[in-house]
Amino acid sequence: MKSDEDELDARIQRLLADPQYQGHPLREALDGLWQRSHQQMARIERITYISDAYQAMARERELSINERFERQLKRIGKVARISDRYQEMMRDLNEALREASHRDPLTGLYNRRMVMERLREETAMVAAGGSAYAIAMIDVDHFKSVNDRYGHEAGDRVLVEIAQALAARLKGDELCARWGGEEFVLILPATTLEDARTLAENLRSHLRTVPLPIADQSLWLTISVGVAHYEPGENFSAAIDRADRALYRAKQLGRDRVEIDDGALG
Ligand code: GH3
Ligand code: MG
Ligand code: MG
Repeated sequence: MKSDEDELDARIQRLLADPQYQGHPLREALDGLWQRSHQQMARIERITYISDAYQAMARERELSINERFERQLKRIGKVARISDRYQEMMRDLNEALREASHRDPLTGLYNRRMVMERLREETAMVAAGGSAYAIAMIDVDHFKSVNDRYGHEAGDRVLVEIAQALAARLKGDELCARWGGEEFVLILPATTLEDARTLAENLRSHLRTVPLPIADQSLWLTISVGVAHYEPGENFSAAIDRADRALYRAKQLGRDRVEIDDGALG
């Protein structure tokens, strides 16, 4: 095809150059046609060139848009992963803070704040038809004499031992907390007064057998316990007061004993 065109080209050039056709009217027309054909060819080539360049540019742009899109996607993915990790960290941190704010720093037991929270929850469950819980207030007997004799720091270590000995005897959802000083509190969900008394009695008789290490020797201490049963409809602090009163009676009756709240017995 190309050689046909070349040949036609050569023939026309030869005809135009041939002196015998000089002045012939067809020669002039052929010359004009020849010029125009060349101009058209040049124009077509230019247009083809521009169109090719434009297409290449468009392809490149499309490619770079795709690339940019992919890059952005990756970046967004990374940001989302970082944000997820950050949120997890915040959740863990919040949980750790919550846990710390509910713990007694000396013994590691739950603290009074946790007791209040649990009492609110347990009371709400009773209001919703659940079985009532029992509360036991525990006070270490003659603890002042431990401090007086061995010093406050040794007293602290003894408190930690007592806390561990008490908590180790509990199970499941039974909660043991440090109420303050040498006083502890138990919350016993869905427990009758009688069962609470039995549990408190077990704790009391167990603790007096636990050797508490102090100054290279052992010490045995006793506890007094007051037990009360939550009465549906009452404010939970009323049940705490009744347990406290029972504890006071246990002290008055000679310590190292469990007393239950009379009022609840009716
Ligand atoms: P009882 O309860 O049998 O009537 O006598 P008690 O000596 O245990 O009671 P009292 O209320 O007179 O004294 C409580 C003592 O507990 C006094 C206080 O110094 C001590 N105590 C309270 N909190 C802590 C503590 O965190 N660490 C130490 N080491 N001692 C504490
Ligand atoms: Mg006390
Ligand atoms: Mg005491």
